[in-house]
Amino acid sequence: MSWFEKMKSGFKTGSKREIPAGIWSKCPKCSFSTYQQALERNCWICAECNFHYPIGHQYYLELLTDTGTFVELDDRLTAADPLRFKDTKRYTDRLRDSKKASDLNEAICTGVGRLGGYPVALGVMDTRFILGSLGSATGEKISRLIDRAIAERRSLLLVCQSGGARMMESAYSLMQMAKISAKLHQLALARLPYIAILTDPTYGGVTASFAMLGDVILAEPGARIGFAGPEVIKQFLKVESLPEGFQRSETVLRHGFIDRIVRRDELPATTSRLIALLTAGEAAA
Ligand SMILES: [Zn+2]
Repeated sequence: MSWFEKMKSGFKTGSKREIPAGIWSKCPKCSFSTYQQALERNCWICAECNFHYPIGHQYYLELLTDTGTFVELDDRLTAADPLRFKDTKRYTDRLRDSKKASDLNEAICTGVGRLGGYPVALGVMDTRFILGSLGSATGEKISRLIDRAIAERRSLLLVCQSGGARMMESAYSLMQMAKISAKLHQLALARLPYIAILTDPTYGGVTASFAMLGDVILAEPGARIGFAGPEVIKQFLKVESLPEGFQRSETVLRHGFIDRIVRRDELPATTSRLIALLTAGEAAA
């Protein structure tokens, strides 16, 4: 995407109406143009309309851990292709392309670190990896992260961003929903908190399992959160349009499915405050 591109040397400014790629970003929601450095300082939030630009996992890792404390876990763990699946493309080819696009070997990056001095186990999904879909390796990484959280008495944070279960792995993928839910029960028995942070989009098997199992469920403004996507629902209901704000975090909050909407730039303070409250009695650094 243009806002990830580095400034190219030797570009020509052309007419005033032209916007050189990689310097200015035009908000997809309100078309307001912002100097990219300013946008980055504002946590990739449009100053005009509050639109939260999609960002990669690296940015959330920086945002949600104290500087220099994050240590990645299981970064080499990757999906197998047990069904030798092929649709318009071979699954192995999709995996290869996703690895290149996301700089990840799976749809989630997991690791441990500190946030506000508190020990955390953090997982961040990334839609650049087959739409952030939940595959067997994704589930295994989350399960191992929870084991680590329990062993080291860490609070668990999962930044959810997913199109749902990974169809290329069929039942192997669906099993991860039960597996992670069981692991989260172990975390609860160990009296350690789990804070789910839902970002745009959070759908399908992820919503139907760990995204909705947080002790506290936060969401970014305007994030799409649901089970089936709007197109599927329109087809099923045989309607041409859906109500305004359908499946947006504000609507989902109104219906009681999540606890709070938090701006991206306020996530570190809100999350660490929640950890402080939920782990009162546990030692902080
Ligand atoms: Zn905007």
